Amino acid sequence: MDNITLIIPCYNEQENIPEFYKQIKGVEIPDCQISCLFIDDGSQDSTREILQELSSRDSRISYISFSRNFGKEAAMLAGLDYAEGDAVVIMDADLQHPIDKLPLMVEYWRQGYDDVCGRRVDRADESWAKRNFTNLFYYCYQKVSRYPLQRNVGDFRLLDKRCVAAIRLMRETQRYTKGIYTWIGYKKKEFPYEVLPRFAGKSTWSFMALLKLAVEGIISFSTVPLKIASILGLAVSGLALLYMMYIFITVLIYGDPVAGYPTIMVTLLLLGGIQLLSLGIIGEYLGKIFGESKDRPLYLVDEYNGEKFIYSPASVCRERAGRLAAKEHSNG
Ligand code: UDP
Ligand code: MG
Repeated sequence: MDNITLIIPCYNEQENIPEFYKQIKGVEIPDCQISCLFIDDGSQDSTREILQELSSRDSRISYISFSRNFGKEAAMLAGLDYAEGDAVVIMDADLQHPIDKLPLMVEYWRQGYDDVCGRRVDRADESWAKRNFTNLFYYCYQKVSRYPLQRNVGDFRLLDKRCVAAIRLMRETQRYTKGIYTWIGYKKKEFPYEVLPRFAGKSTWSFMALLKLAVEGIISFSTVPLKIASILGLAVSGLALLYMMYIFITVLIYGDPVAGYPTIMVTLLLLGGIQLLSLGIIGEYLGKIFGESKDRPLYLVDEYNGEKFIYSPASVCRERAGRLAAKEHSNG
């Protein structure tokens, strides 16, 4: 019997969870036991109460409640940290990920694939701006990163327990999970699926959030922007040198007076702009280092299956299971 745990991050999903539960109860996969691990990411509606009620009624339902909203990336990591079983499937609570694909995913997994990921074929409900922005992002990312990014592939995926163990090792606080999936490698299999419309409620992603995630993705997996800053600096210095020689020659040989003010202003502004841009790029990385160096936990659990959670060394170890395992491994 295979044990599969569904990891479902939920943020204000009170209308969706009962329907999700109803649909998941109807799924039958031969020789396979499905359980659900919901992560209530600091919802302000009655998501937590619904989860409490469900888990007291059905032993296959468990949940984690965060002390506040930590974001979907943290919620997914918590799910991976706490999930047990032979494989996990990460799914959205809003029923946008078709539940009827589960048997197919398990089928591929049983064929020996470690990471079975859904590729969106239909993005019809997305705005023109979002779609084009996404395209631009993929293009830029692919240009600057060494790791290939799977196009139109998101968080809807089945991960073998080996992949789960690998992702637990990656404790960076500013997470770009899509990049992490490709970074870990293992045998991947894509299958197409149609994104369904949200069952109820509104998507929490704004354009700014997407933009932030895009910058996150590039900064997390590439140092090319830093190199661009150096190359830009070098190129401008080179041009400035040439221009200086040109001024020298015109003044010394031809005796032409050089018009001062406009040239100085243009160079000044150009250089100032480039300097600020480079500083900004360095700042992005510095901010990342600052964030990581604090070494804070990625999320705080308020409640786990009805029990109030008190942080103790043991529970912290559990959250940092990955790091602990890595240490034990290196100690032999
Ligand atoms: N989500 C979360 N924390 C957040 C935002 C979203 O756990 O801060 C969950 C949300 O409940 C849903 C999933 O992440 O299950 C995807 O969110 P959403 O539907 O808003 O995003 P979209 O489908 O538009 O990408
Ligand atoms: Mg959604």
